[in-house]
Amino acid sequence: MAAKFDLNDDTVVVIVGSGAGGGTLGTQLALKGINTVILEAGKRHEIEDFVNDEWASFAQLAWTDMRTTSGSWRVARDFPNLPAWIVKAVGGSTVHWAGASLRFQPHEFKAATTYGRIKGTNLADWPISSDEMAPWYAMAEDRMGVTRTNGIPGLPGNNNYKVLEAGAKKVGYKEVSTGRMAINSQARDDRGACQQIGFCFQGCKSGAKWSTLYAEIPKGEATGKLEVRPESHVVRIEHDKSGKVTGVVYHDAAGTIRRQKARLVCVAGNSIESPRLLLNSESSKFPDGLANSSGQVGKNYMRHMTGSVYGVFDRPVKMWRGTTMAGIVQDEAGNDPKRGFVGGYELETLSLGLPFMAAFLDPGAWGREFATALDAYANMAGMWIVGEDMPQEKNGVTLDPKAKDKYGMPVARVHFDDHPNDVAMRNHAYSRGRAIYEAVGATRTFPTTPYPSTHNLGTNRMSAKPSDGVVNKWGQSHDIKNLFVSDGSQFTTGGAENPTLTIVALALRQANYIAEQLGQKTI
Ligand SMILES: Cc1cc2nc3c(=O)[nH]c(=O)nc-3n(C[C@H](O)[C@H](O)[C@H](O)COP(=O)(O)OP(=O)(O)OC[C@H]3O[C@@H](n4cnc5c(N)ncnc54)[C@H](O)[C@@H]3O)c2cc1C
Ligand code: SF4
Repeated sequence: MAAKFDLNDDTVVVIVGSGAGGGTLGTQLALKGINTVILEAGKRHEIEDFVNDEWASFAQLAWTDMRTTSGSWRVARDFPNLPAWIVKAVGGSTVHWAGASLRFQPHEFKAATTYGRIKGTNLADWPISSDEMAPWYAMAEDRMGVTRTNGIPGLPGNNNYKVLEAGAKKVGYKEVSTGRMAINSQARDDRGACQQIGFCFQGCKSGAKWSTLYAEIPKGEATGKLEVRPESHVVRIEHDKSGKVTGVVYHDAAGTIRRQKARLVCVAGNSIESPRLLLNSESSKFPDGLANSSGQVGKNYMRHMTGSVYGVFDRPVKMWRGTTMAGIVQDEAGNDPKRGFVGGYELETLSLGLPFMAAFLDPGAWGREFATALDAYANMAGMWIVGEDMPQEKNGVTLDPKAKDKYGMPVARVHFDDHPNDVAMRNHAYSRGRAIYEAVGATRTFPTTPYPSTHNLGTNRMSAKPSDGVVNKWGQSHDIKNLFVSDGSQFTTGGAENPTLTIVALALRQANYIAEQLGQKTI
């Protein structure tokens, strides 16, 4: 039976957000016997509610509350109020996600040391090493049922993958496979095997894809220690005279203001809402926002170096059939500065349905070039490029000076400029992506501009020294002992890999730390 806690119960751990970080942390704390309340701004949709229709699904699941943008990135021009593609629902963005689950490479935890001083960046080393992370990665892979780990076979390759694989091998790449995916290739964990339905971004109707919505949270609720409160939008974290946090203020489904007391608060609203909440919680004691004595809350926003390449062939590919991310080329993932940039990138198959393709292939485009590309949709193959982008202090989330949400709180303004390293890496990736498709007979290729950000990272970063970041190696605020950050905003740097496995591993590790500290009464 799911728990129900009193608003005045100040013994509970309160988590803001139920996605990869918050949903995993809440479940793990409950499994350890700790009373936990997750407050989630979005609704709770179950598997049977998902719709296999791109725009209808987006309207159902995505965070469409207003945000504003600035900076030279093209997203600010094409989608000025949609800087990021994030879910507002129980399960967070693990409802939309594709399932690619890769570990960071060891050097990526030590980016400042490995890459050296690079003008315009705010590079730092993570205060954690790859060796320290290894057992937590192993636990996350087991928990999420990641293919090619724990004896779980890889997924079969669809046509989109077969085109990628053939082209990649022709240009000499070796590390080509259907990847490590948190999608069941065989029945596991009371969930069935992937049916290759092909709507992974729309919420997986078979439940084969791991999501905190149905693979974690119900296990936490079954302990009687976890309550998930949907449609509960947190607007402020409160503290006492000593600076310790005491609870949160939120609006419930009816818009009524509620106050949930707490022993400890964990912020897991994704890298745009988490810093916004800390900044909006300013007080006379903390005039620059909570956990912000370093001035780093909201700074160093990373979104991964991304872009896509589509190739048109003279025969049908039907890339939309089967898993959306069906395979990967990893030969470019290492750090080889001879290419003209530091860090590396992955090439991963991607398929968009025709409605999204029309919106994202070249936003705002019209005319023959664009129309004939859409005419050739059935003959297209697609890949996404994802690589390490540079943390820059000027890139980040601030409170918009004018725009307010329906609760009267300033909305997030997201500023982003590419660093020259990001641009050099993207151009390299575009040319390699085109070469792959041209090697197997593409008649046209389309390097495609980045979409609203799906990987949002770094705005409450971990640091060894309190003056360099917001949280310590456990995600615990340097300034306030009982305030934690539990999502992708903790990332010190982004690595080349899709981030969710690392977010989940960090949440499992943080749950252990919180349980220990509560047990020893040190928090
Ligand atoms: C289309 C798509 C495909 C993706 N594919 C992959 C992939 O293949 N591999 C990979 O590693 N990653 C992928 N990602 C990224 C991945 O989903 C995210 O990195 C991950 O879910 C982030 O976890 P999080 O805990 O930081 O935030 P989220 O999972 O986004 O959860 C945040 C939650 O907090 C809630 N919230 C925010 N503010 C408040 C508030 N004030 N009060 C209450 N609740 C609040 C939100 O509603 C949301 O539910 C993909 C993302 C998208 C959109
Ligand atoms: S392809 Fe597999 S993982 Fe994707 S939606 Fe279909 S069943 Fe789920």
